[in-house]
Amino acid sequence: MAQRTLSIVKPDAVRKGFTGAILAEIEKAGFRIGAIKKQSISKEQAQGFYQVHAGKPFFDGLTTFMSSGPLVLMVLEKENAIADLRKLMGATNPANAEEGTIRKRFAGSVQENAIHGSDAEDTAAFEIGYWFAGYELI
Ligand code: ATP
Ligand code: MG
Repeated sequence: MAQRTLSIVKPDAVRKGFTGAILAEIEKAGFRIGAIKKQSISKEQAQGFYQVHAGKPFFDGLTTFMSSGPLVLMVLEKENAIADLRKLMGATNPANAEEGTIRKRFAGSVQENAIHGSDAEDTAAFEIGYWFAGYELI
């Protein structure tokens, strides 16, 4: 059974013109793009999405960054999608990311790190429901 995960091409990567290259890496790795949309989000929407990080020192900078320009929201499908996407993304800080990972290739800093991927089944369910309506996932 395919598993679903929520991924975001973050505003830094969209701004730098890396959207297509990142999508190509994702498809090459065997993910199906189940749903996709490009949009800008408000700071309030970013705060709601990252509510688990509320209170952390990077929360304000992170939510300002995520609302700084268009991003690309995606639902990705594959067996073991959640763990496999995290592996393809690489470490949060691109300085620690392995060769060949998306963050190693496309991320500029620990904050502006090109891509998001859900980290567990419950967070994936919350994040998919946060950005996508049921009719968008048919
Ligand atoms: P994401 O949730 O975006 O997939 P992640 O799970 O690798 O990334 P988290 O610990 O969930 O990392 O942090 C969420 C996001 O917050 C990071 O992707 C990054 O953009 C930002 N972030 C995390 N730690 C820092 C930090 N020390 N300084 C600045 N920004 C940070
Ligand atoms: Mg995370």
